[in-house]
Amino acid sequence: MRGLYVHIPFCVQKCSYCDFYSLPNRLNSLKAYIEAVLQEAAQYDQLRFETLYIGGGTPSLVGVNGLNDLMTGLTGIFRIPKLVEATIEANPESISQDFLQSALKQGIKRLSIGVQSLSDTELQKVGRAHNACQAVQAIDLAQKEGFRNISADVILGLPGQNWQSLMTTLECLTGWGLQHLSMYCLAVEPHTPLAANLPGDLPCDDEQADLYWQAVELLGQRGFKQYEISNFCLPGYECQHNLNYWHGGEYLGLGPAAASHYKGCRYKNKPDLDAYLADPCGQKDEVEKLRKPEKAAEEAILRLRLLQEGVDLSGLIQKYGENNIMALAARLNQLSMKGRLLRDGFIYRLKPEDALVSNTILSELLGD
Ligand code: SF4
Repeated sequence: MRGLYVHIPFCVQKCSYCDFYSLPNRLNSLKAYIEAVLQEAAQYDQLRFETLYIGGGTPSLVGVNGLNDLMTGLTGIFRIPKLVEATIEANPESISQDFLQSALKQGIKRLSIGVQSLSDTELQKVGRAHNACQAVQAIDLAQKEGFRNISADVILGLPGQNWQSLMTTLECLTGWGLQHLSMYCLAVEPHTPLAANLPGDLPCDDEQADLYWQAVELLGQRGFKQYEISNFCLPGYECQHNLNYWHGGEYLGLGPAAASHYKGCRYKNKPDLDAYLADPCGQKDEVEKLRKPEKAAEEAILRLRLLQEGVDLSGLIQKYGENNIMALAARLNQLSMKGRLLRDGFIYRLKPEDALVSNTILSELLGD
């Protein structure tokens, strides 16, 4: 399977915790940006993709005309007549009926909404551009327009957040019939306004962990399967684009800061909108050719994030050859003997209770 990711690096304003590549006040570059993306895409003429993910930034800011131009251009360049899944991200402050109708008309049937919380106080404290009422209206509008595969992002550990407020957010989202939730713990990234001005009411690591486990339990009771450390869905609504990523599949990323894994190489475009507009095809940075043993180890690490599926060693042997996975197999075995991984024949899994300390275990797998 191969996935196509298009990055839309525009936002209404910058959230205090954000270290993604996105810029406020640059929507005047939108038309030129779509042209630049299509120019970059044209290098891969006729490539076939099974999934499309338009992410950001805030893709709902491109509006009806921007989305039409982008989709018409992409469908003219690539072979994407029968996508398994097409997703667009949207933020509540910029979702409109016209935009949703246009997305559906373009065959984009999965919507991922940046809700983050349904507490106005929590949203304001991290500088989100929307309030809870706008999030509720956005979900309602999307459902009325006919979206039947909606995901919401939720942040755990927001300043002042407690279990009562998180529970309200999760109970509302699941109660309204959303199919998918992505739930990430707030990370204080260096050089962000949040790091420069840490709020006194930021939940500590232990409190964040308590929120996570309470949320996992509640979502389980609501019928949501935890198919990845931070992702939960009703049966059959796993995000196929991200599954391909966790399965070590190929993907092509277009736009500044977008990452790709294509023809055995990993690379990333430079995070610089102006440089990208000037030369969309000349931004590849960090080209890394992976050797088979490294690729196999990387795939194992990604697959272990899939808590129920885990990593199947026999599949890796078939894909990479026995010689290339011998060291990896020995490490997986060691970790299972130490009780750090569960083993069932050829299948290795993280213990669900280790979901929050997975990085330590996964780095042991790399031999760090
Ligand atoms: S909306 Fe998302 S991408 Fe934009 S600033 Fe906020 S966190 Fe960053």
